[in-house]
Amino acid sequence: MTSDFDVVVAGAGPAGLATALALAQEGFATALIGEANAPYDGRTVALLDGSVQFLKALGVWERMADDASPMQIMRLVDATRSLFRPPPVEFSCREIKLDAFGFNIENVKLVAHLAAEAATRSNLTLFPVKVTGFSADDTAATVTLEDGRRLTAHLAIGAEGRNSPLRRAAGIGTKTWAYPQTAVTAILSHARAHNNASTEFHTRSGPFTLVPLPGNCSSLVWVNRPEEAERLAALDDTAFALAVEKRASHLLGAMQVAGPRGKVPLSGMSATPLTAKRLALVGEAAHVFPPIGAQGLNLGLRDGAALRDSLIKTRSAGQDIGSSVMLDAFGKARAADTALRTGAIDLLNRTLLADFLPTDFLRGAGLLTLSLLGPLRRMVMREGLTPSLNTPMQMRRAPSHSAADAM
Ligand SMILES: Cc1cc2nc3c(=O)[nH]c(=O)nc-3n(C[C@H](O)[C@H](O)[C@H](O)COP(=O)(O)OP(=O)(O)OC[C@H]3O[C@@H](n4cnc5c(N)ncnc54)[C@H](O)[C@@H]3O)c2cc1C
Repeated sequence: MTSDFDVVVAGAGPAGLATALALAQEGFATALIGEANAPYDGRTVALLDGSVQFLKALGVWERMADDASPMQIMRLVDATRSLFRPPPVEFSCREIKLDAFGFNIENVKLVAHLAAEAATRSNLTLFPVKVTGFSADDTAATVTLEDGRRLTAHLAIGAEGRNSPLRRAAGIGTKTWAYPQTAVTAILSHARAHNNASTEFHTRSGPFTLVPLPGNCSSLVWVNRPEEAERLAALDDTAFALAVEKRASHLLGAMQVAGPRGKVPLSGMSATPLTAKRLALVGEAAHVFPPIGAQGLNLGLRDGAALRDSLIKTRSAGQDIGSSVMLDAFGKARAADTALRTGAIDLLNRTLLADFLPTDFLRGAGLLTLSLLGPLRRMVMREGLTPSLNTPMQMRRAPSHSAADAM
């Protein structure tokens, strides 16, 4: 049977857009369904090095570079008042021979740049409507649009975020959980330079993180108990900026709100398996976890980049790109990375909330060990940026650089 497309991607958020761009670039006839939009709530994404390499390989990085700030230092400050509080720990990208760990950019700007690029690409047909249905058989995946049109493809990709209609239609199960926390987000300007440093204060209610943006601006993710988050969200801009300045121990001097503010309740979700007949999930359609440690979209972009590699391999072998062999291999490869990141973020968050001496001791000892042992610290930094196993092709740096890194 002839399909309309090789691949249909549902959802034009950052993961769906990047995946569609990657597949179209490789000559797959690709349809992208959905309106490109993102919440305008002060949310930014810290794109780690592998993600930046991916966006460069897609030819889209140049568009957005001026809107992004490099992150060259990552500072962790234990502000729990625990008995086993370690001194602040600083990680520098120079230690692993990089110019930056990655770049921080407003989510809305990232999506706007990806969408602008998508509109220029051959092999990529845009359908700016909602997807309402999905079915699959041995020959094709069929996706129904809200205007009644039906598109067929060898493979469908669910990238419509946490409530993915394709995932539901395929009957893929999910595990969901909630945290007693809400993240308050904002963009602020400040009197002192951030020097491209991101600072994460670990508090008993969760991390309080300031991440650099271009100029003397930073984005804030302040994870708090829900009642406290409500109180902060209700403050006017002046009182809110003062509260942030105090919580940051005046690190960046006087602050002012310089963009939108938002509030996001923290929760988690894992889909299992990550595939169904002629369907693969990427991004938050597959996994959601709290905005701690800048992992969510980086993981979502790895899903897209890994799927691109799998499809190229399958096509080169002359096989059906929507085959169960391809999907099983993709699902298995992504499950390990997803489980590792979900587990690590959950553990870190829960140890902060616990207020329990033995866990405080372990967390403190872990950070202290990292600050004292250079080789271990460098290994953790590299692994945090991109996993050493199964790194997708377009996320890898040139071999000469990797050799230098290995020192
Ligand atoms: C406060 C905060 C800070 C964060 N910081 C970071 C960070 O520093 N680094 C990081 O890597 N990650 C971060 N994340 C996580 C990151 O924002 C998400 O992982 C990412 O936005 C998910 O992208 P996505 O494309 O998978 O899903 P989404 O952004 O949810 O996009 C899904 C798209 O699908 C569309 N859609 C939904 N239903 C349909 C339908 N029926 N038909 C068609 N389209 C549909 C939606 O409108 C949307 O456009 C943060 C998250 C939060 C909340």
